[in-house]
Amino acid sequence: MSQGFSIGQSDNGFFVRDTDGTRVSRVFRRESDAEQDLARLAARAERAHRTEHRPCLCCGRRFLSQGPFNRLCGECGSAGGPPELDRVTTTRARGRVGWGVSAHG
Ligand SMILES: [Zn+2]
Repeated sequence: MSQGFSIGQSDNGFFVRDTDGTRVSRVFRRESDAEQDLARLAARAERAHRTEHRPCLCCGRRFLSQGPFNRLCGECGSAGGPPELDRVTTTRARGRVGWGVSAHG
């Protein structure tokens, strides 16, 4: 999916703008420099999009992940350290399975 960045032009040069037309880069004198920055911004946006939400390894709830290294939601992550198999099993046995699932509608 395209992030929709495009090159804009002003009196001072060229810049990258997003779908709203907002300038998201500095102004470059050369269009080719702006295009390079566009590629960089698009790659970063795509990466951010890909790592935006992940299911927590502990409770399974989707949360905003900081990246591939970040696999626990804030709740489980702050509960202390990496997840252990015991803890996952115990958590599930306590009947938290199914919470957060609303199939209505
Ligand atoms: Zn969790």
